[in-house]
Amino acid sequence: MSKIEIAPPSPVQPATDALGALIELQERAALIAALAGLSPPERIALLRESLPGKITMTTGFGIEGQVILHWIAEQNLDIDLVTLDTGRLFPETYELWAETERRYGLRIRAIYPNGAALETLVARQGINGFYDSPDTRTACCNVRKVEPLERALDGAQAWITGLRGDQSAFRSQASVLAFDTTRRLLKLNPLFDWTRQAVADFAAANGVPVNKLHAQGFVSIGCAPCTRAIAPGERERAGRWWWETDGKTECGLHLARA
Ligand code: SF4
Repeated sequence: MSKIEIAPPSPVQPATDALGALIELQERAALIAALAGLSPPERIALLRESLPGKITMTTGFGIEGQVILHWIAEQNLDIDLVTLDTGRLFPETYELWAETERRYGLRIRAIYPNGAALETLVARQGINGFYDSPDTRTACCNVRKVEPLERALDGAQAWITGLRGDQSAFRSQASVLAFDTTRRLLKLNPLFDWTRQAVADFAAANGVPVNKLHAQGFVSIGCAPCTRAIAPGERERAGRWWWETDGKTECGLHLARA
């Protein structure tokens, strides 16, 4: 695994100089090619070696996030660990959060919704107004997740996520490494080409703490009022916003940016 020198993306504007832009592209292409042949923990380590600035990993304490966090801790990598606490998570998720910090001896930075925006949202549509329509659901996700994510990634040159390609048709269109053109940062999905079973097997074999709800049929776990257990054979993300009929199972964190 050899280090690839890569300049940090410009934080403000795309490179205006054509040659500079070409060099940036070549560096990214080299990094993408190098990452493809590596294991997920090697991918994370190579990104850390190759990029001088801040790298942020966000976790919702799903099994993928837990395994990635295990590799970061095991390799003692300098990576900012962040979670978005929507205020509506399952008690089991908070238990896992605390257990994870104890197990690995680290602190996971919590980002909360903007207080004024949350008060306005709840005043307008009620505490559970997200059940009323796709628009009210999107409004809730925007206040509790999407806007906080922008603050979580502030100053980061790269973002590590637990996204896997086989989680949904939408997610299959992602890749191991992409460039988020809106946020001007690299986005690494180190488990993109792993199956859920492979992730679960790794977690079990290595004693990685996981959410107790997985044993009760909860596969993809988000906010408590918007997540249900699924039956065998159902799509992995079918338990998210199950009352909506358009089949969309994204809250907006991964939409239309990479
Ligand atoms: Fe709100 Fe549900 Fe989205 Fe959580 S998942 S932010 S409770 S709509």
